[in-house]
Amino acid sequence: MANLLELENVSKIFGGGFFNRSNVTIAVQDVSLAIPEDRPTITAIAGESGSGKTTLARLLLGVIPPTSGQVRYQGEDVQRMRSRDWLNFRREVQPIFQDPFEAYNPFYTVDHVLHRPIRNFKLALNAQERDQRIEESLRMVGLQPDETLGRYPHQLSGGQRQRVMVARALLLRPRIILADEPVSMVDASLRATILRSIRDLNRDFGISVIYITHDLTTAYQMCDNIIVMYRGVVAEAGSVEEVIQNPKHPYTQLLIDSVPQPDPKAAWGEEDDESVDRVDESSIVTDQCKFAPRCKYVMAECTDSAPPLRTIGPNQLASCFLYTDQPEVEDPDIGQSFEYPVIEPAEVTN
Ligand code: SF4
Repeated sequence: MANLLELENVSKIFGGGFFNRSNVTIAVQDVSLAIPEDRPTITAIAGESGSGKTTLARLLLGVIPPTSGQVRYQGEDVQRMRSRDWLNFRREVQPIFQDPFEAYNPFYTVDHVLHRPIRNFKLALNAQERDQRIEESLRMVGLQPDETLGRYPHQLSGGQRQRVMVARALLLRPRIILADEPVSMVDASLRATILRSIRDLNRDFGISVIYITHDLTTAYQMCDNIIVMYRGVVAEAGSVEEVIQNPKHPYTQLLIDSVPQPDPKAAWGEEDDESVDRVDESSIVTDQCKFAPRCKYVMAECTDSAPPLRTIGPNQLASCFLYTDQPEVEDPDIGQSFEYPVIEPAEVTN
């Protein structure tokens, strides 16, 4: 069966060109992944700031084109879709962003953000059907319509505002929800509720979730699979159980060793966005392991070429020269190629 959403050898390079040859950013480099059509999964894309995870999210949503490679939805290149298919893609792949406040207009009640998708996608024949659909979606995320509708954004808590955005995504009956750091701007006390709402969408309604995060703890609690990104490349990927319990890539090991951090704001060595690779265009072809400057196992070959992804276990891949005895992944279709273990969702505690 075809994958629902897939990336094939996708790279995204910003900058360059005739007037800007010296300032090129490789945000994503040769990444492949797949969200299967036949079973709803929750996949974490995890990494520090500058890892390329947000660029990956924008590529998956089709809002930026890849420099090379292809993003496909149900087998069709997202960048070349006919308008009807594009509209369908926009409806079925719904984003939930980090800062819900930005999505609201402070002069309108929250009803406004719920009415708009119904109108744009012509989802209701009349006001009664519209209201019924909105109330149903609010209840699905644990909100009471009479305590939510008619309020202005500032009259709701941060957690309520984010749950309204989850309800908004649900209105469109999506097949995939792409949640980009959905709880990073919400109080710790509300994070569990929001993450539970998102996880329930997967369990109860068969919606696949792509959870983009810098937080390994919630990734472990929420997800079936994880892709760990480092400076635009996949360092390690696999079932969340194996990658977190038995990390193979030195970078993943470093991340796990540094969790939990005493200061949650400093969780796993946040770097600012400026730290993404800024390289001279002429040096793009000169590959090496991007983690080499920080790796305690660095060897000569690590600075000669980039390590390919290798199959380390039945549900685990890593790109590292420490595993040259393991087979290279010829056509990395990360996500679909694993035999997913059935993991009972853990209780979200923070
Ligand atoms: Fe470290 Fe080399 Fe592995 Fe890179 S390829 S993570 S530098 S051992």
